[in-house]
Amino acid sequence: MTAMVFENFSYAYDGAEKALDGVSLTVARGSFTAVAGPSGAGKTTLCLAACGVVPHYFGGSMAGGVKVAGLDTAGSSMGELSAHVGTVLEDYESQLVTMTVAEEVAFALENRGVEHGMIARRIGEVLAQVGLAGMEDREVGSLSGGQKQRLAIASVLATRPGILVLDEPASALDPEGAEDLYALLALLNREYGMTVLVVEHDLARVLAYADNIVVLASGRVACEGRPEEVLPLI
Ligand code: ADP
Ligand code: ADP
Repeated sequence: MTAMVFENFSYAYDGAEKALDGVSLTVARGSFTAVAGPSGAGKTTLCLAACGVVPHYFGGSMAGGVKVAGLDTAGSSMGELSAHVGTVLEDYESQLVTMTVAEEVAFALENRGVEHGMIARRIGEVLAQVGLAGMEDREVGSLSGGQKQRLAIASVLATRPGILVLDEPASALDPEGAEDLYALLALLNREYGMTVLVVEHDLARVLAYADNIVVLASGRVACEGRPEEVLPLI
């Protein structure tokens, strides 16, 4: 079973060169994939395409397609896609929309009609998972950058997506926070079969967990494979 398939997918933002250029990539269900590559290689665009933000919220031109959980991203609504894919983007702060930490986690669950007792349990559970236990009533605006990043991750985890796409999720975390985050992602991957696709420039952080590494360069897949296959090549 595949969680995600890029089929010869190309995409150019309006008036720009191709950000992705003929990407073919299969992400197996239950796998942990790390995406690396130099700045401008197309890593963020790959994340945007994996959750449907590209093409839904951007103009530009595309060729080929992306399927997520069997759904063609261009032909499916963001609502349909978000039932399967949770996303934490690079500008995670713009994903935070409410006043308090608890409200932030509850937001997506309320939208989905999750029952109140379950929401309360999930809030406690995911805040503990990301190291924000007991911070329910804090105002989001009073959190540090790293705490906001962990809150954005907690809010997405609360919906228990089958597929999780994260763009540099440890960018605002200290080394210990980064280690804790990756240990959590590895646990969710192992215990609950969550498919994880994560952009991480520091591959050393994910080598112990990733079973697939994709290196992008100039919008193309430069190499892909198991860590022991890919590392000697980069
Ligand atoms: P990475 O995440 O690997 O740094 P990106 O996916 O952000 O790469 O960018 C890939 C290419 O697309 C780059 O050449 C970048 O300048 C371009 N690009 C990214 N976002 C936009 C945008 N909103 N409009 C135009 N070009 C963009
Ligand atoms: P509940 O949500 O009421 O706790 P579940 O049977 O759905 O009941 O989950 C039992 C436990 O399994 C939860 O407390 C949680 O720790 C864990 N769990 C299950 N699925 C996930 C998931 N996708 N992400 C995080 N934790 C999960």
